[in-house]
This record gives sequence, structure tokens and C-alpha cells, in this order.
Amino acid sequence: MKSIKDINFKGKRVLLRVDFNVPLNENRQITDDTRIMESLPTIKKLVADGAKTILIAHLGRPKGFDEKYSLQPVADYLKPLLGKIHFLSELLDDKVLDMVNNLQEGEIMLLENIRFYSEETKGDEAFAQRLAKLGDCYINDAFGSSHRNHVSTCTLAKFFPDNKYFGFLMEYEVTNLKKLMQNPKKPFTSVIGGSKISSKINILKSLLSISNNILIGGGMVFTFLKAQGKHIGNSLCEDDCLEIANDFLRTAQEKGVKIYLPADIVIADRFANDADRLTVSADAIPDNRMGMDIGERSAVIFWEVLLQSKTILWNGPMGVFEMSNFAAGTKAIAEATAAATDRGAFSTVGGGDSVAAINMFNLGNRVSFVSTGGGAMLEYIENGTLPGIDAVIR
Ligand code: AMP
Repeated sequence: MKSIKDINFKGKRVLLRVDFNVPLNENRQITDDTRIMESLPTIKKLVADGAKTILIAHLGRPKGFDEKYSLQPVADYLKPLLGKIHFLSELLDDKVLDMVNNLQEGEIMLLENIRFYSEETKGDEAFAQRLAKLGDCYINDAFGSSHRNHVSTCTLAKFFPDNKYFGFLMEYEVTNLKKLMQNPKKPFTSVIGGSKISSKINILKSLLSISNNILIGGGMVFTFLKAQGKHIGNSLCEDDCLEIANDFLRTAQEKGVKIYLPADIVIADRFANDADRLTVSADAIPDNRMGMDIGERSAVIFWEVLLQSKTILWNGPMGVFEMSNFAAGTKAIAEATAAATDRGAFSTVGGGDSVAAINMFNLGNRVSFVSTGGGAMLEYIENGTLPGIDAVIR
């Protein structure tokens, strides 16, 4: 990889794409700062070199300017960590160029949410050219956004044919994911959860070629159960994916990959933490109830598989973990992954929800590697590269 390690950026205007797409609560407070903290080594190196650092990032999926998606909370969070930060809330115009040119060595400027410009997600060349004028070189350190073919993650790199690099986080992510994929120790167990089968089916399919076991939890379980002819009550279900689910189970059997679906389910009478709840067998969900978490019996089975594993990949919660009464299944996976790691397994946890969960249970430092990417991590595992990586290598 084109590392920044041996390069001195003194006096250079560096366009640094970072991933500050952090979860915020209703008071606009950052609830998980993993992505910010993981971006610091590259930023601090540039500051130490005496570069003029221009941070480019996005937050959420705004449609045009929208205060709700402002990076102001991130700017405020960065101040005590990095000292003075110039936060540029106005649009990109000539004034910005003046301000960038007036930056002192070692100073940092954060541009407002780049997705406030519709050109960003369209990969617009003219917009990329305008942005490129702000910098002498380009660094992509936004692993978690690099599966997007957008201006700041891809198009911009074209304008720096001899001056484009990867940041430390990008290198760290790629090194660890290579370790996960190249000659992993067996048994290899993948744990996949989350709400929808449709968004995870491609990765599920590619995991069939590296995994010995795949444990499935979360809302997508119910599409599998329905495909097997079971009653799922009011549980989440993608009716147009029933055939896909069955195909997947058939292929897994042909390939000798063991698929574990939950044996029991915690059900509720409504989607609320204080709902009436009960644990039932996975084939006995009543009509007017919905599945909210994997049951205790399932958690024990999943736990045992994980403890026997030498390599673990976890993406997606086992239930509605944001509600404390339905977090036990996800907590069990987090604890089992930590316990297996203690016994020498190499464990990778990725995806906003799984990372938030593992941190919520204070187990982030007991797994081998926490990826800042969700979709990006899965796509990297599937394809062995990402558009944002190719753009810098090319
Ligand atoms: P994803 O973004 O696809 O990884 O899905 C994560 C979301 O799935 C989380 O917000 C969970 O609350 C949600 N989830 C997990 N299990 C269930 C379930 N049984 N029913 C509904 N939503 C679920």
C-alpha cells in the first residue's frame, strides 16, 4: 500500500478523507466514537509533520443541506483531542480556497458534511476538480466509506496521480482483513445478524467459501424460518427472499458448511422494550407475536460453536439489542467471541451495530480486531478490494 509512514508532509495542503460517520443520539451526542478515535493517528502524524490538513467527511444520508446532519458535533468532539480546529460550515467557494491557503503549518480544517453537495454521491468530476484545488495531495483513511464510488472516496484521487496515499487506519484495516481471509485457522465461524437478508445475502454466499460454521441471528432469521415452513407471527420478514433463503441453505449443505439458525426465540407482543416477552421454540411463534432476540438455548449453542473456533467474523446483532430486554443474545455473542479470543482465536468484529454492541458490553479490547467498516468490511471480504482502494492504487 502507498503508506504515509515515510513521507513528510511539512507545508503541504493535505486533503484527508476520514470516516466520521458516527452514531448520534436524539441530543446529537456521539454514542460511539470508534471511528473518530481510529482516525486520530493519521491526523496526528500530519499535524506533527507540519501539514495543513483539510478533513473531508460525511455524516448520514442528507438530501442537501440539513442541520440534523451537520458535522458540528464531530468538530466539537475533536477540539479537546486535537486542539484548535477550523470548522467550515459555509459552502465550498473561493473564500474556502483563501482560508485553506491561509492555514498555518500544523493547523486542521474540517469541511462541513460533504454529502450536503449532491455532486458527492454522483462522483461528479467538476466537483472533484474544485475540491482538488484545495490540496497538494490526497490521503484516503476512510475505510468505512470506501465501498462508495463517490467524489471524496474515489473521483478525487484521479487529480493526484503522483500524490495519493492510504492513511494508517486504512492500512490497519486491510492488514487485519487479509489476515482474516488468507489462510485463516479453522474452524472458521461467521456470525451474521441484522435486520435484512437482502442486504447480507451476497456476503453470506461468499462466506460459504471460507467458513466452517455460519451462525445466523437478528431479524433476517425469520425469513429463513418462514422459508422452512415455520410460523413466524408478526416477525420481520422479506417475503420476496424466501427462495433466496432456501437456495442459500441448500448451497451450504452441498458445500458442507454448517448453518446454525436459532432453536428458540424471545418474542414480544409489540416492538417496545417494555413489551410482554416470552421465550418459545423457533417453530412455535404465535400469530400475534414478533421475534425480538435469539433465546437462551440458542445463545448456549452459538456460544459452544464459538468457543471451538479458531477464527471468528461477526457482523450484525442477534436481536433488537438497542432495547435492554432484547440484548441478551447479542451480549452472549460478544462474550463468547471475547472468551474464544482469550483462548487464542483471531476475532474480527465489524459493522456499526456490532461495534456499538461490543463497546456497550465493554468487550471491545477483548477481541482481536474491531473494524470501522460495516458494508465496507463485508464488501472487502467479498471482493478483496474496494473502489476507494482501487482509486489510490490505480
Ligand atoms: P442491519 O443494519 O441490517 O445490520 O440491522 C441492524 C438492526 O437490526 C438493529 O438496529 C437491530 O435492532 C435490528 N434487529 C435485530 N434483530 C431484529 C429483530 N428480531 N426484529 C427487528 N429488528 C431487528
